[in-house]
Amino acid sequence: MARSAVPSGGRQVDFLPIETLICYGLGLVARPTPSGTVNIQTSARDVLRFASLFRRTPKSLAAKLSNLDGRRPHGAKFEQQLWIELTTTRDTFPALYETVLASARSVGLGHEDVPDFLGHAEHALDIVFDAVSVNDSALFKSIEPEVRRLAESVADIDVASTERAMMGTARVGQQQFARRVLTSAGYHCVFCGLSTRAQNLPSSRMLVASHIKPWSESSGRERVDPLNGLAACPTHDAAFESHLLTIDSSRVIIRSPSLERAVATDSVWAQFFGENALSPELILPEGASAPGLGYVDWHRARLVVELPDWTRRKR
Ligand SMILES: [Zn+2]
Repeated sequence: MARSAVPSGGRQVDFLPIETLICYGLGLVARPTPSGTVNIQTSARDVLRFASLFRRTPKSLAAKLSNLDGRRPHGAKFEQQLWIELTTTRDTFPALYETVLASARSVGLGHEDVPDFLGHAEHALDIVFDAVSVNDSALFKSIEPEVRRLAESVADIDVASTERAMMGTARVGQQQFARRVLTSAGYHCVFCGLSTRAQNLPSSRMLVASHIKPWSESSGRERVDPLNGLAACPTHDAAFESHLLTIDSSRVIIRSPSLERAVATDSVWAQFFGENALSPELILPEGASAPGLGYVDWHRARLVVELPDWTRRKR
C-alpha cells in the first residue's frame, strides 16, 4: 500500500510473492485462447482493480502471467517451477488463495480492494477444479506433438520441464472452460437442476463441465468453446456421453428408446431419468447462451453410430 506508481518507462519493482499468486489466480478466470496459451485480459474488471492496487499497469500483470507459463525466454526458472507446482497439485493454490484473502482482510483490505474473484466463499474454486472432465493422459497426448516439435527445433530444451509447463497450461485452459460452462449454467445440472451451490455444499464432484463434441475429437478452438459445453451431474453427464440422452436444436431433452424402456419398466431408472427427474428441456438461466448448434448436430449425428437403438426412433 506504501508503493507509489512507477512513471511510465521506469523500471518496475519486482513482484512480491502475493502479487505473483494473484496474477496466477487472474489467469484462471481469463478466457482460454484457441492456441492454448493463458492470457490475462487487461481490460477485465478484476485485472484493472489489482493493477491499481499494485500500482502497476494491467499489461505488466499480463506479462507476469506469461512469464509464469514458462514459454517466454524472459521468465525466470523459478517462475516456471511455480507454474508447474500450482497447476499439478490439487490443493496448493486454493490454500494459498485462502491465505491471501484472509491476510488482506486482517490488514483491513475489504472486498472493494481485494475481491474474492475466484469465488472461494461459494466454493467456486473447488467446484471448477473438480469439474474438469478431461483426464491427464488425454491432455498429455494432445501436447506430445508440440513438445516433439520444440525438442527438434530448440537445441538445449529441458524436455521434462517444458512438458510439465505445457500440461499445466492445458489444464488451466480446461479449468477456464469449466468455469465458463458452469457459470453460464448457473452452477447446476442442465438436465435435472441439481445444484451443490444452492445448498452451499462443499462437495464439488457432483458437477461436471463436459464437452458435447468430445474433447478428443474437437479442434483446439472447440476444446475451449463454452458453447461446446454442458454442466451436468455425473449421472446425466454419463448418460449424455453414452448417447442415452441427447438434445435437439431447441434445447429439448430426448431419451433414447432403450432408456425410455428402462424408465417405463424399472423404478430406479425412472427415479433418475423419469419425468420427475429430467426437465423437458435444458435448464439454463435466463439470458444464458444455448449450446452451439454445430455441436448439438454433431452429437445427434453420432447417436445412431454409437447406439443403433436410436434408429427405431423417428427423428
Ligand atoms: Zn442431473
